[in-house]
Amino acid sequence: MTPALQDLYALTRADVTAWMETRGFSPVHGARLWNYLYWEMVDAFAAMVELPAKVRRRLEQETYLGVLPTALATDSSDGFTRKFLLTLPDQRRIETVLMRFTGRATACVSTQAGCAMGCVFCATGQMGFARHLSPGEIVAQMVHVGRALRRAGEARLRNVVLMGMGEPLHNYDATMRALEIVRDPSGLSLGADRITLSTVGVVPGILRLAEEKQPLHLAVSLHAATQEERAALVPAAKAWPLDQLMAACRFYSERTGRRIFYEWTLIEGKNDSPDHAHAVGALLRGLPAQINLIPLNPTEGYKGAPGRTEAAKAFQRILGDLYGLPSTVRQRRGIDIAAGCGQLAVAAAGR
Ligand code: SAH
Ligand code: SF4
Repeated sequence: MTPALQDLYALTRADVTAWMETRGFSPVHGARLWNYLYWEMVDAFAAMVELPAKVRRRLEQETYLGVLPTALATDSSDGFTRKFLLTLPDQRRIETVLMRFTGRATACVSTQAGCAMGCVFCATGQMGFARHLSPGEIVAQMVHVGRALRRAGEARLRNVVLMGMGEPLHNYDATMRALEIVRDPSGLSLGADRITLSTVGVVPGILRLAEEKQPLHLAVSLHAATQEERAALVPAAKAWPLDQLMAACRFYSERTGRRIFYEWTLIEGKNDSPDHAHAVGALLRGLPAQINLIPLNPTEGYKGAPGRTEAAKAFQRILGDLYGLPSTVRQRRGIDIAAGCGQLAVAAAGR
């Protein structure tokens, strides 16, 4: 049986060097290969012209460049958002989004094809779970966005949010491995302050992040301040109830000294009233927290409406004035191309 080919995007810089050395090639070729992968971001072995032919041949025999071909790229009418539909080696598809509205290019990356968590208002949750992504498939999305920026003559990729399709802490090992690879300062250089991981509230994963002191920003999708209301929106809350989640968040902040971002999708008449603001204020009071309010984006499977601007403003005032909690309202961008939060889904992704 021929051994499976190695995806180059799944290797750390040290692995690349070791790969060269175990085959009797100079570590200089390792440095050059790494440069091709993450500085030049080439999309084929043929472009690696400075590598000796025998090195390239060996690479072609034993490895592959896990470039994810673009099935479709769409731009939002406001010009700030570009959504890529990318094809995985098994022909499944995922979505990755390039966002420019903060003035810094940010990639919104998927960690799974589909999602098993079933949040009622999320298009990815509505499509169900297909499979986990491999470390190389997660890295390849960031390279893809980096390459698109390069081709457009724009500045390098600055930030990454793990807020695309899937639940990153349900695919913990692959996600952390991918982050280790892209963190390398001589590669994509996406270090601690440039990565935000958003979780639905997978308690064991949050505890592990804290214990390992993983260098990243953590965002926790809260959406409700009581167990009952939360479980109705986020079925995963039945497995990891609110009190356990808050205990894990407290542990995380104590252990890492980091503030947590709490996400709150504002749904009109469901969780956008002053009473809800008081409830979340009381829940988070005294914690190192910032609340990100996200007006609901439309999805096919959920009938709710986004909270109104005035409701969001009143919500923010209560949080800030009465509970000392800073908050932001996320700008709605890319909605016309279904690239907003919770809108990523691929028809027939399971096939
Ligand atoms: N699985 C992770 C990350 C992906 S979703 C998580 O759930 O946190 C990123 C954010 O978008 C989450 O806070 C999620 O709750 C929110 N979201 C999902 N569907 C949405 C929708 N239709 N409108 C607005 N926000 C949504
Ligand atoms: Fe999965 Fe996050 Fe969507 Fe929930 S909101 S279904 S956890 S991607």
